[in-house]
Amino acid sequence: MRAVTLVGGGLAGALLALMLARRGLQVTVYERRADVRIERIEEGRSINLALSVRGIHALEQVGLANAVLTQTIPMRGRCIHPLSGPTSLIPYGRTPEQVIRSVSRRGLNVLLLEALTREPNAVIHFHHRCVGYDLRTRTLTIRDESTGREGRVEAPVVIGTDGAASAIRLAMMQSLRMNYSQEFLEHGYKELTIPPAANGSFRLEPHALHIWPRGGFMMIALPNLDRSFTCTLFLAHQGTPGFDQLTSPAAVREFFTQTFPDAVPLLPHLDDEFFRNPTGALVTVRCTPWYVNGQVLLMGDAAHAIVPFFGQGMNCSFEDCAVFAELFDTFGGQWEAIFPRFFELRKANTDAIAQLALDNFIEMRDTSADPHFALKRQLEHLLEERYPEQFISKYAMVSFHRVPYVQALQRGRIQDRVLMELCSRVNSLEELDVADAFARVQAALAAS
Ligand SMILES: Cc1cc2nc3c(=O)[nH]c(=O)nc-3n(C[C@H](O)[C@H](O)[C@H](O)COP(=O)(O)OP(=O)(O)OC[C@H]3O[C@@H](n4cnc5c(N)ncnc54)[C@H](O)[C@@H]3O)c2cc1C
Repeated sequence: MRAVTLVGGGLAGALLALMLARRGLQVTVYERRADVRIERIEEGRSINLALSVRGIHALEQVGLANAVLTQTIPMRGRCIHPLSGPTSLIPYGRTPEQVIRSVSRRGLNVLLLEALTREPNAVIHFHHRCVGYDLRTRTLTIRDESTGREGRVEAPVVIGTDGAASAIRLAMMQSLRMNYSQEFLEHGYKELTIPPAANGSFRLEPHALHIWPRGGFMMIALPNLDRSFTCTLFLAHQGTPGFDQLTSPAAVREFFTQTFPDAVPLLPHLDDEFFRNPTGALVTVRCTPWYVNGQVLLMGDAAHAIVPFFGQGMNCSFEDCAVFAELFDTFGGQWEAIFPRFFELRKANTDAIAQLALDNFIEMRDTSADPHFALKRQLEHLLEERYPEQFISKYAMVSFHRVPYVQALQRGRIQDRVLMELCSRVNSLEELDVADAFARVQAALAAS
């Protein structure tokens, strides 16, 4: 039986392992953490995630989409919390099916691992960290995290699904002429919890992604199945305001009271959580190439970590797995043919979603509070309704359709520019001529 070794059994690793095991390969996975099905692991980052069409499509390929979907909470739109005054909902989609879904990272990983361990030709070693990979001898150095013992294992074909700080990528960088960049955002993030109300109900509308846009920074909240919400504060590491200023419970409380007044009563453990939970960094990783012959390949965050503002890191990594499985079938499992083709197909697209995600930070933290932005979304939905074959909004191209990210970036930017320009001049949709807006978008796209 042909064999493949995966380093990293997170979201992409577990899904890819399952796809390859089902294709008859002997799959070995090394995962540095404990088995999430048994041990409660302190995540340190994003307890829940927004799942959308690309992720769902990939899960369909292994028959897990339905099982996952039953464990999600649909979010119909952005619920904007202004500094004062009522909240407003800006729908994501035009139809009731066009939603994104909040899913637990752990729950999703558990479902994937459960399916994987049912495959007789898949083995997963938890608590086993890869600390080196020798490309010349094709051996991995693996440390057993429970005993500290290190050993070398032969691994003729390796796929690095070991996340943003990939050990496999590091080994490749040390041995070849690999281009690499990591671009940190000046903002970091911190997770906080809105627990369920005393009667066990949600404290906010559950079918929405809540946003407190505040110009240079923002807070968001996604619902969880236990009726809590996980909030994420995105704030500069340094500055006014910045994490470096929030050094005492009094400073934190003052900051929240001033900037998120309606959230303060919902965060009973604010003081405690703010100082207990880590401040995470946000990074975009780009590298090239992602492979060496038919020997080693990077996938998921290991190849292209992105910032989380389009909710696409996991979706994109799952799309990687689906594309890879398709290529595996097309090329009859010939790694030498699959690896370069995979890189060729995915590199430009992952660069595009990296850019879309960076752009979306500006939209979420600044523009979403602007009433003209809400108008633009309404206009986009009207255009989608009236010209379904010719117009899809940028958000819908990324989240509801599997339009290649490159196209979503190119077309989306042009559409956004034209529509925002139109909407910024008016106060209501009635003042706009939808046919004229459509013609302007078409003209701008044709001229590009
Ligand atoms: C705050 C935040 C919010 C996010 N929100 C969303 C969202 O809403 N929607 C979305 O689609 N994406 C989101 N993402 C992105 C998403 O989390 C990642 O893109 C996704 O987890 C990538 O999957 P992966 O399997 O490539 O990497 P990971 O999930 O990081 O998995 C890597 C695995 O490799 C293991 N590992 C690492 N190093 C080693 C080693 N040396 N040896 C062995 N094992 C190792 C790790 O323990 C881990 O299990 C968010 C990210 C952040 C930080």
